[in-house]
Parts: sequence; structure tokens; C-alpha cells
Amino acid sequence: IMGTRLAVGLWSDDDAAGERAVEAVLGEMRRVDALMSHYKPESQLSQINQRADREAVRVDPELAQLILRAARLSELTGGAFDITYASVGYLYDYRAHTRPTDAEIAAGLGAVDWRHVIVDQEASTVRFSRTGVRIDLGGIAKGYAVDRAIAIVQDMGIVHASVTAGGDSRIIGDRFGRPWIVGIRHPDDPDRVIARIPMVDASISTSGDYERYFDEGGERYHHIIDPGTGRSAGELRSVTIIGPDATTTDGLSTSVFVLGPERGLELVEKLGDVDAVIVRRDGKVLYSSGLGEPP
Ligand code: ADP
Ligand code: MG
Repeated sequence: IMGTRLAVGLWSDDDAAGERAVEAVLGEMRRVDALMSHYKPESQLSQINQRADREAVRVDPELAQLILRAARLSELTGGAFDITYASVGYLYDYRAHTRPTDAEIAAGLGAVDWRHVIVDQEASTVRFSRTGVRIDLGGIAKGYAVDRAIAIVQDMGIVHASVTAGGDSRIIGDRFGRPWIVGIRHPDDPDRVIARIPMVDASISTSGDYERYFDEGGERYHHIIDPGTGRSAGELRSVTIIGPDATTTDGLSTSVFVLGPERGLELVEKLGDVDAVIVRRDGKVLYSSGLGEPP
């Protein structure tokens, strides 16, 4: 679901109730995907991309809210996070190994600016202020879906659970009285772990240049795009963010990846309620002050 692997772990005294909770998680993931997928032409997100340059497109309040949340993150990150990156981003096809020419990037960049997206909360509509704008919620939607899934199992009375969608996880409670342990993988080796983080009631997201990419002429073209240049952000291999909820950690892992090590860590320290593990291109691992250097 959502083009990724899901994992759900939860504790229930009642088998049937546990199964129902797992099913509810999967159902919620499918629902969010159907609303926000850019692959599905009938999704509300695709409707926005097809028509919002001409008219205000009516959407579920939930989608309007998430677009507004993305806009707040754009403001906070000085535009490093920007869902209109897709105005250029759609020209990359990582499976087919195709990418835009310099001229195509230059032509598309004018449409990349989150301020081109106008949300009317009252009417629950979305409109673009110019043509050529496209949006994509891939940098935040999985975290959002994970948060929704956790809210649903909590409503069902579950107090110990872990929900993961690709690189985004949220944990409530503990695992048999001990923290859940989440591993951060090595950027070049899915079987090697660079750090194990014990977690209770927290979220963790990792963004890496190894998720969707192709290599060509010694360059790596991957799916995290610097909205300032229309090209893959080049300074880091991976960013892991630990924080209170998965929408926040998902959006921030993508943002810090674009910001790079110095500005990224500065943002993390300023926010206070999140931590980061950053793998630089030269392999050096940086930790935010809340984690400290490991022994
Ligand atoms: P993953 O999808 O592997 O979990 P991320 O959370 O890092 O990875 O999100 C990467 C996705 O975010 C991309 O596939 C794309 O959909 C979207 N994206 C890429 N660059 C940006 C950006 N600068 N701002 C917002 N979203 C982005
Ligand atoms: Mg992300």
C-alpha cells in the first residue's frame, strides 16, 4: 500500500480484537492512499493537479488540512520542504532512468513555490495561482497515514502498538515492558544497522538516497528534490528524525535531507522536541544534542 511495505505489531488480550485492529490499520492506509495518491488519476490529489490552475477544486477537509500543514513546514524550513517540487519532480522517472534536461528544469522551476497553492479552509477548496504547478504529498503522506492508523487502534482500546509504512514508524506503549527497538539501516547495505534506537511513545522517519534512484555518469539521481534547483539534494545519504508524531518526523526527514548537515541540525536543535541522526555523503554520522555521541 502507498507503494511501500507496511508492518503492524500490536498487543491485545483478545485474538479477534487484535485481528480487527490490524485490519483497521490496513483499511486506513488504503483510504489515505486513495485520497492522496498521485499515481491514481481519480484521487483527489490528482484532481487538484488536473484542474486547480483553472478552478478551485473541492476536496475533503482532511486533504486541505494536510496541504496547509505542508505549507507550515515550508515556511518553517525556508522552502526546503515544498509539495510543488513536483512541478519539476514529475519529470524524473527513477524506474525508467529518465530525468529532465537543464532546459526543462529551468522552465519548470518557476512553478515551484508553495505559495502558488491557495487553500480556502472554509470552502475546502484548493487552487493554483498559475499554470504548470503540480503537488505531491509523498514527503508527508506516509507519516500522516501512520498517525491516522495509530489514532484508530487507540480508539479501539489498543495501548501497545507499532505501525510502519516504509521509512516511517510510530510507536505507542512498549513491547512486553521494554522499549520497541528501531534500527537505522546503512545507506549502502539494507542488512547492516548503523544505530538502534529504543523507543516508547515516539515516531521515527528515515529519508535516504537509496529508496528511489538511479546512477548515471557517477551521479546519483534520487527522489528527494531540492526545490531551489529542481535537482536531487546532494549533501547527505540519509536523515533519521525522532519526534512526537509521524507526520512531523516524515516531513522533517525530507526537509533536513534538503537542508543539509549544518542548516538541518540547526533546525532540529531549534525545534527542541525532535532529534536527528544524519549520515553525510562521506559516511560520517552526526547526532543531534538530544542523542549525544554514542559510546
Ligand atoms: P520515502 O518516500 O522513501 O519515505 P521521504 O519521506 O524522504 O521518503 O520522502 C521522499 C518523497 O517526498 C519523494 O518521493 C517525493 O514524493 C517527496 N519529495 C521530494 N522532494 C521533496 C521536497 N523538497 N519537499 C516535499 N516533498 C518532497
Ligand atoms: Mg519524509
